[in-house]
Amino acid sequence: MSECIFCKIIAGTIPARKVFEDDHLVVIEDISPVAPVHLLIIPRKHVVNVLDLESADDGLIGHVHRIAARIAREKGVAESGFRIVTNNNAGAGQSVFHIHFHLLAGRQLGWPPG
Ligand code: 5GP
Ligand code: ZN
Repeated sequence: MSECIFCKIIAGTIPARKVFEDDHLVVIEDISPVAPVHLLIIPRKHVVNVLDLESADDGLIGHVHRIAARIAREKGVAESGFRIVTNNNAGAGQSVFHIHFHLLAGRQLGWPPG
């Protein structure tokens, strides 16, 4: 997806502060953080959002959550609390149409979200 900003970050043509990467995903710091910990877990595969997932992606989604748990522990927010958020389509706040998982922590997170 040549015009996709997250594909460009994954390819290294747009810089980002990378926290972790493996064969399946990259984790970067959000450019406009809304919490003291605001990371984006981005699968390397260009999937638009949850609506675009296939059964072949089931393992990937599990992996995303295992990595999120590992990073939450490493950042010291596992016990205090953290949130994993995926916005799906514009009405829910999706602005980058390459699936990603916000990992938010480091402050009291309100519920319900806005
Ligand atoms: P969405 O609004 O799609 O749920 O989340 C997209 C997120 O990507 C936003 O929180 C936004 O700040 C972040 N973002 C957009 N462009 C860039 C960028 O070029 N670099 C980084 N690190 N984050 C970005
Ligand atoms: Zn993409």
